[in-house]
Amino acid sequence: MSSRRIIVVGGGAAGFFAAITCAETAPDAEVTILERSSQFLSKVRISGGGRCNVTHACFDPQELTARFPRGAGALLAPFKMFPASDTVAWFESRGVKLKAERDGRIFPVSDSSQTIIDCLLHAAKGAKVRLVLNCGVKRATKRVQNGFELTLSKSRPTPPRNEPDAQREPLKGIAEERRGAAPRPEAVPFGKDDGEQSGNEKLTCDRLLLATGGCRTAAAGQLSTSLGHTFVPPVPSLFTFHVENPWLRELAGISVETVEASVPDARLRERGALLLTHWGLSGPVILRLSAWGARTLHGMNYRFPLHLHWLPGLDAESISAGLDARRQTQPARLIIHSPISPLPARLWEQLALAAGIARDTRWAGLSRAGRHRLVQQLMRTEFQVTGKSLNKEEFVTCGGVRLSEVNFKTMESRICPGLYFAGELLDIDGLTGGFNFQAAWTTGWIAGRAMARRPGSRQA
Ligand SMILES: Cc1cc2nc3c(=O)[nH]c(=O)nc-3n(C[C@H](O)[C@H](O)[C@H](O)COP(=O)(O)OP(=O)(O)OC[C@H]3O[C@@H](n4cnc5c(N)ncnc54)[C@H](O)[C@@H]3O)c2cc1C
Repeated sequence: MSSRRIIVVGGGAAGFFAAITCAETAPDAEVTILERSSQFLSKVRISGGGRCNVTHACFDPQELTARFPRGAGALLAPFKMFPASDTVAWFESRGVKLKAERDGRIFPVSDSSQTIIDCLLHAAKGAKVRLVLNCGVKRATKRVQNGFELTLSKSRPTPPRNEPDAQREPLKGIAEERRGAAPRPEAVPFGKDDGEQSGNEKLTCDRLLLATGGCRTAAAGQLSTSLGHTFVPPVPSLFTFHVENPWLRELAGISVETVEASVPDARLRERGALLLTHWGLSGPVILRLSAWGARTLHGMNYRFPLHLHWLPGLDAESISAGLDARRQTQPARLIIHSPISPLPARLWEQLALAAGIARDTRWAGLSRAGRHRLVQQLMRTEFQVTGKSLNKEEFVTCGGVRLSEVNFKTMESRICPGLYFAGELLDIDGLTGGFNFQAAWTTGWIAGRAMARRPGSRQA
């Protein structure tokens, strides 16, 4: 029997990174990942539109933390230990070629998340991590004589879709054992020497890592709370805004490179690209507002006024001067047909109409009052947000295990020795752009290294 038995609950980005790091650092330790679903790394698969935005080309730890609405302070030391450059090196040293796009997002050159999945599965197999699918942990208790006892929940294994061999293999091992079939020798990590177990429903381990991902409800954080931790109530982050406005909907599909969007009631203000959609507003600037304001906007039940400045950087005076110049240079042109750069023509037309400019008004006929209304419209179009959009699955959850209860030098619980955390289960969430995976890799790596240490050896 191995001197150390380490169980990682959750076969996502953080769980894999931790398990691989731990098994590579301590080859004598027995490291197992338990995944309740029938697939490992399912979020990695769908991430980045199927391309997996692995991390971000932001190599300064302090700067990196500024992309985290929650967790910035706690992540500074971890990002010094395992920064984004280490993530790039980690994957590239394992044969994954990565590329940075102009906005800093880093993807595999293959533009396929399968490359990342294959790499992680291959690394886990190479490090002899035991991979178990269809094996949820429903209860975890601290044992009197040290370590943990886990109660498993059964789920019927479903054949994985077109998975590579590494992913199919564990189904034949533990999963078959759980169905009553004879297990293959190398796939019998539990039960045989645990004595107290029956039907493989209970497992014991010396160290336990919870890497179960973002929770939609507080109840989903039950494993951590049952071991004494506080769970900051989860609310969605990174969502789009629902706006009921007829002219806006007609413009679905149009994007504007830079706008300034603000929610005065929540004191939120962001700049960035905006996308007009069938249901309202999306794009990086909206996602950033939703992340920074996740809890406040939840408190407002996602109903609030939103202001858009379509020409950020320009004040009323310079916009007015631009309109006057048009009056001089193009007096006979219809206002609605001569957009101000860089606004798309159809958007300009709707903004002019919304400012009360008649369709047949020419620049020469723009009154002082009309010019004032147009300037106001360009600087402060107000929309009433009436909800958050259900366009996509929410990307990320704000909330999770309270950060002050975790030692970020090791990712070990300050409340329950031997218990570790990594990934989105923590009250950490980042903006879009590869930051959430970076937090998962970093916290997973640190937890993996710490769990690999021999009991009694000095820890940070
Ligand atoms: C559509 C979408 C696209 C995204 N794109 C990106 C992107 O491009 N870049 C980026 O940085 N971030 C992206 N994210 C966010 C990113 O996927 C997550 O932050 C990241 O996956 C978190 O990793 P994790 O390992 O903590 O959790 P998860 O990846 O959620 O993994 C947790 C695992 O634990 C398992 N589990 C849960 N409870 C139990 C239990 N009791 N027993 C056993 N197993 C359990 C779950 O089934 C799951 O497989 C995206 C998210 C979504 C939803």
